[in-house]
Amino acid sequence: MGVGIEALFTSALGLQAPWSVEKVELDTARRRIDFELTCEATRLPCPHCQAAGQGVHDRLKRQWRHLDFFQYEAWLHADVPRIACTACGKTTQMDVPWAREGSGFTAPFEALALSLC
Ligand SMILES: [Zn+2]
Repeated sequence: MGVGIEALFTSALGLQAPWSVEKVELDTARRRIDFELTCEATRLPCPHCQAAGQGVHDRLKRQWRHLDFFQYEAWLHADVPRIACTACGKTTQMDVPWAREGSGFTAPFEALALSLC
């Protein structure tokens, strides 16, 4: 068996562990491509105080608009872990490598939008 389409898009999107593409859905009628991303780690550093190996409290569903793939509108979807930290006592959402905190767009999409202004 060769490299699966999920592994192919994991590299195409520049994702690194613990993130990878779990599912790709192409909707030709709506001209949309949707990527389901997954974070495999169950213990992560606290985004607030950087304490290592903290437990995942829960996961919140989020989505981001990404650069088009040819004529397809591309969207990323992920359940982003919130980390419950025993060191600082805060529960903080993990930063995702492809977007700024709180943004609904991926960083490459924001860069393109800015260049078109
Ligand atoms: Zn902490």
